[in-house]
Amino acid sequence: MPKPVLAIVGRPNVGKSSFFNRLIGEQVAIVEDQPGTTRDRIYGDTEWNGVEFMVIDTGGMVLGSMAEPGTGPEGEVTEEDIMERTREQAEVAIEEADVILFMVDAKTGLTSSDSDIAEVLRKSHKPVILAANKADSEERRLNAVEFYELGLGDPIPMSSKHSINTGDLLDRVVEEFKNVPAREEETDEAIRIAIVGRPNVGKSRLLNSILGQERVIVSDVPGTTRDAVDTIFEYTEGEGEEAHTFPVTLIDTAGIRRRGRIEQGIERYSVIRTLRAIQRADVVLLVIDSNEGMTAQDTHIAGYVLEESKGMVLVVNKWDLVEKDSNTIYDYTAHLRQELNFMPYVPFVFISAKFGQRVNKVLPIALEVTKERTKRVSTGQLNKLLKEAVEAHPPASKPGKWVKFYYATQADVRPPTFVFFTNDAEAVHFSYKRYLENQLRGAFGFEVTPIKMIFRTRQHAE
Ligand code: GDP
Ligand code: GDP
Repeated sequence: MPKPVLAIVGRPNVGKSSFFNRLIGEQVAIVEDQPGTTRDRIYGDTEWNGVEFMVIDTGGMVLGSMAEPGTGPEGEVTEEDIMERTREQAEVAIEEADVILFMVDAKTGLTSSDSDIAEVLRKSHKPVILAANKADSEERRLNAVEFYELGLGDPIPMSSKHSINTGDLLDRVVEEFKNVPAREEETDEAIRIAIVGRPNVGKSRLLNSILGQERVIVSDVPGTTRDAVDTIFEYTEGEGEEAHTFPVTLIDTAGIRRRGRIEQGIERYSVIRTLRAIQRADVVLLVIDSNEGMTAQDTHIAGYVLEESKGMVLVVNKWDLVEKDSNTIYDYTAHLRQELNFMPYVPFVFISAKFGQRVNKVLPIALEVTKERTKRVSTGQLNKLLKEAVEAHPPASKPGKWVKFYYATQADVRPPTFVFFTNDAEAVHFSYKRYLENQLRGAFGFEVTPIKMIFRTRQHAE
């Protein structure tokens, strides 16, 4: 079920990321040891009073854009650039988020940058909650009334640092979520494929190329945002008597199909839109440009796909532009495997969307992922495998601490989830989990899908 989204916007240094970090707590960052991704997370899931939602630190997006050249004489990023990018992210937040938390700084007081952002927010029809952070003292709390001038209602004085009023603030946020129309649960049978990636990598070309393969387009339905449209088409697998036709939905993250009409030039990259599409998808096609490889942004996106346990295919596009010899594809593969070492099961496909090379491989690979993601193994088969695996290679035990496996069962699909009952779940070593995972994947053909393994302690064999 897609969760509602809270976006935190505001000029730099008001305390957005401090508050964000408090909200998401100690979430394990999967990709942080990757080069170039040391920047803290910019989105995470949280919950208040039983309401789950996703929160996004748009300041992190602005920082993320710092690697791009600015308008300074040497291409450096200037103060104006930072404000421009902040305003841009506020615009994206308006479009994509359900509720906006506009944070200002009660210590410095009202600034012209605050007014600039407020102007953007006032024009939106999204609920905006105005929070005056760093209101650590009574005096600052009283002074916070000056932000009333921004025309966004009463400011809520708060202190992220000293946990003042943060509960009241979150009550307000949750209250606003109640007014947001629930995102419809998608009940249709279609397999959902999201095409994501940075601007200019070739998503649009790929989508058109896939649809160009004589597809019967059933319908175009409005996507989650103004300019995004889902395309549903009939896909036929196999031939003759074996042929089987079913609907496939392409989630168009970038508003690709309408882009021509909406605006010229490249899309405005939207992390939120991308995350939303991933939440809705069964399998994600992460498109990259062969010449650029995986960027930090791509690694973040892949990390999110992993957290959401969605299937993924890495589509390496513009392969026509790469100068090749007989080793090139192996070198590229090895390098990309290294970059994606936290998702070793993800299949790669090297294509040229422009010239249609291997585009016809993309859907079959994506569908293979979804098949594995919904595959079930019988309890009998699973326990036979477990027994054999443990016999062939018993778990290492410390003296007096024997790890015994009693029983395993597949508890779920999407992704396949396996529960192992042992006498001491804590004592099962990471490398042994790896070993069992490899056995499982090999024996039952879970090769391209994420799987989950859960270890539980039971007093006795059942
Ligand atoms: P961002 O750029 O908006 O994400 O701001 P940061 O979260 O990086 O915070 C900027 C500075 O404000 C840091 O030095 C924080 O420690 C400080 N800060 C954040 N919240 C509070 C607060 O409630 N009170 C005070 N006094 N300082 C705070
Ligand atoms: P998007 O922003 O990710 O949707 O990217 P587009 O599909 O709009 O493509 C961006 C640019 O890259 C366009 O000029 C395309 O013609 C070009 N392009 C896309 N795919 C390929 C490819 O496989 N090879 C080459 N040489 N150019 C491509």
